[in-house]
Amino acid sequence: MAWRGIFKIFSTIASGKNNLPEEKMDFEEETGDRVLNDEVELGDEEGEEGHRQTFAGAIPGKMVQCLKTDQVRGPFEPPRLVLEPPLRTANPLKLMGTAIPLVQIGGVDKVLALPLPHLPFFPGFHRPVQVKDPKLLAALQESYARHAPYVGAFLVKDEPGTDPSLVSGSKAEKNIYDLKGKELLNRLYEVGIHAKILGIRGDRVVLVALGRIRIMEMVDKEPLTVKVGHLKDKPYNKDDDVIKATSFEVKSTLSDVLNTRSYLKRTCTKCIDNSEFPRLADLGAVISGAKNLQCQQVLEELDVYKRLKLTLELLKKSMEISKIPELVLETDSKTTLSAKFRERLEGNRDQIPLHVLQVINEELSKLQQFGASSIEFNETHNYLDWLTALPWGIYSDENFDVFWAKKILDEDNYGLADVKERILEFIAVGKHRGTTQGRILCFSGPPGVGKMSIGRSIARALNRKFYSISVGGLTNIAEIKGHFRINVSSTPGKMVQCLKTVGTANPLVLIDGVDKLGRQHARDLTSAVLDLLDPEQNAKFVDNYFFFPIDLSKVLFVCTADVVDNIPKDFLYRMELISIAGYVTDEKMHIARDYLEKSTREACGIKPEEVEVTDAALLCLIEKYCHEAGVQNLQKHIEKIYHKIALQLGRQGVSYEPAIADKPGEALVRCAGELSKKDVTDFKTIQESEAIGTIEKVVVDISNLADFVGDPVFNAERIYDQTPVGVAMGLAWTAMGGSTLYIKATQIEQGEGKGALTLPGQLGDVMKGSAQLAHIVARSMLFKKEPDNRYFANSKLYLHVPLRATPMDEPSAGCTMITSLLSLAMKKLVKKDLAITGEFTLLGKILPIGWVKEKTIAARRNGVKTIIFPSANKRDFDELATNVKEGLDVHFVDDYNQIFDIAFGDDQETGK
Ligand code: ADP
Repeated sequence: MAWRGIFKIFSTIASGKNNLPEEKMDFEEETGDRVLNDEVELGDEEGEEGHRQTFAGAIPGKMVQCLKTDQVRGPFEPPRLVLEPPLRTANPLKLMGTAIPLVQIGGVDKVLALPLPHLPFFPGFHRPVQVKDPKLLAALQESYARHAPYVGAFLVKDEPGTDPSLVSGSKAEKNIYDLKGKELLNRLYEVGIHAKILGIRGDRVVLVALGRIRIMEMVDKEPLTVKVGHLKDKPYNKDDDVIKATSFEVKSTLSDVLNTRSYLKRTCTKCIDNSEFPRLADLGAVISGAKNLQCQQVLEELDVYKRLKLTLELLKKSMEISKIPELVLETDSKTTLSAKFRERLEGNRDQIPLHVLQVINEELSKLQQFGASSIEFNETHNYLDWLTALPWGIYSDENFDVFWAKKILDEDNYGLADVKERILEFIAVGKHRGTTQGRILCFSGPPGVGKMSIGRSIARALNRKFYSISVGGLTNIAEIKGHFRINVSSTPGKMVQCLKTVGTANPLVLIDGVDKLGRQHARDLTSAVLDLLDPEQNAKFVDNYFFFPIDLSKVLFVCTADVVDNIPKDFLYRMELISIAGYVTDEKMHIARDYLEKSTREACGIKPEEVEVTDAALLCLIEKYCHEAGVQNLQKHIEKIYHKIALQLGRQGVSYEPAIADKPGEALVRCAGELSKKDVTDFKTIQESEAIGTIEKVVVDISNLADFVGDPVFNAERIYDQTPVGVAMGLAWTAMGGSTLYIKATQIEQGEGKGALTLPGQLGDVMKGSAQLAHIVARSMLFKKEPDNRYFANSKLYLHVPLRATPMDEPSAGCTMITSLLSLAMKKLVKKDLAITGEFTLLGKILPIGWVKEKTIAARRNGVKTIIFPSANKRDFDELATNVKEGLDVHFVDDYNQIFDIAFGDDQETGK
């Protein structure tokens, strides 16, 4: 199946340097259950997206399951054991390779002691361990770098006085990180595992267990280093009938246990068949799900027969537990649940409104009355879950310090000086008023100009949690107002979900895409969002799921929109609009270099010294690949480059660990599955080059840029270097920001008295009127300039105006149309790199146009050297930042004669 193949590739990539074999077995202590980290197959749609937590069988989607399973990326401690089938006794000498003969079987060694707060580790298993002690982590990193990646892993004893039958692991973990030296030593079990470090990512250290060891003495206090002796299993007779019979019983009980855990069955059945007796006992202990102490006993037992007996007991107990009637668990789980809900309320009980407390208490008593598998129970459980998870009365302290805010805004966003100034004003006013509530900022501008990013920075500056709700995709009012609690699948709306997620009652909520609300004809949805924003209404916001008011008055709302004109009017008068026009090339260079590249590099885990993307490459990327007002596309291209760099570096530094295989090559083929023989050879070469320290820095320059991002894309905004006869360049504004547009006049028929103008059918009425007027003006201009020229009188013309760039706001292409018509009639080329914008009126005046900044940026982006603006726009242009105006020859005109002189000056070539 294609998905299987893809997943295999992903798991190969994900496991990176330390490729693990395809078939692994994960051990999840948190749920007391084990999960197979196997291939993902996509099933029914709901299953893929995740079930809502509404009924007993509800489970999260495949992605969440994947995060839970692959705990390297999960947020919680990973008590994960990965078992490599076929299972055989690991021979430490073979595992290490011959170059570093540190381990002596039956000998003595000095190792760093790594405490394991959860389950002990058994030989032959892989396991990622989170190391929270920075000194220990640094020491482990150092030994890994020194090619001496060995460590002693020891289970942590529970605190004295803890009931061993209740050993949880988390209790053991609680204080262990504060202990040092002797104190720590006393809290570790003496018998542990000699393990090899396969890789370190962040604070996660992936280990493979080699063999059993016993602590002999402490060598160093911090990080704890101990002298250890290597333990060997006592000799045993493989043909002894008692051992054979016991192992047979272990195998059969193990099979019974696995029958109740179908997800482990496929992998483990193979392992059971291939395991020798000592390993079978270890495997059984792991699968039994026994508590720390019991597993530790198995680890400490060197007599193989006794070890098998111990494991057998654990497995039998595991079978018995799986048969305990549901009833007992039911009572247990209800009490635990109530306790969990009550515990959540501890600390801020006083802050919870009385009416809410009352509801919670009523629901808690209801919980005890319903059967654990009843619908009512699940409904009540869900309701309580929401009620108790909301941050009643929890607020983050708002910070109105404008200096701090400036620092944060600069840290997160390049340039945008005017936007930042407005935000600082907003914060300063908030300081005087004591609150920023009530005023709603709305950032408008084309995609990728940093609207969301600015919103996030404001939240950071004000010390509020950030949450964004994209209203563009909403179709149902219930997504804002919540579903009525009529069945188990009902859920609250986005705002309540937001409060639960952020955990404070005063987050900054970014309503993304308010202009998209107007487009949908869901008026009730628009008014629901409006209620949310209205300071009069939102203090008593009623979510249908709860049916009692929730105070949202402390939430700070910020909005974004691509097109201001599409924002519903009701919203507009409540908002303070701040527009972001886009960036010119040098701004994009700074953003790319200092922000996008940096964040992408960090996200890919690549060090600055491993890579160099030259200025020329970045410039080429901006000018030839990403013709846009913002930097969204640029960001995608930079990500593309870094993903490829990561792969190149990965190939350079790849190290397929032989793990439990006999020969490195064999392990490679088995681990990587699909890798070809060539890869194996490459791998060896790479290993050799790594050994002599020749990992090369990846340089991305103009010469090899295409290898990373393909060939440059066609720029529809700059079709001509020199516009031909009949073509003139104008400037327009669309939802994607400013843009250049070409207007082209063509003759379609010629003949005495045939003078007429045809226009594209879909052109709007305003543009049509504008074109007709342009035709008249061009005719009269031609008569003035070349009285004998009868071109317009005798030619039927077609005026092409690209619809893609049809101005959305107001007609501003009249002067461009006149110029293109005149160019055709006079057969004269229009001045090179000239953009004309302005609308002509019958009164002979040129009317001002809008979006001066956006249009100027678009002109710069497309290599325009000269711009003609109406005189009335001079003030708008003068207000622009110097870097936006730089290098442009700008003319402000009052009548068309001035445009004529600039466009067809004496030095203009004729196109005859
Ligand atoms: P928008 O909300 O306008 O579509 P985003 O805020 O999502 O744009 O920005 C897209 C990307 O570009 C983000 O990674 C953002 O950090 C980055 N970005 C945009 N403008 C800037 C800027 N001025 N400085 C630094 N990064 C920026």
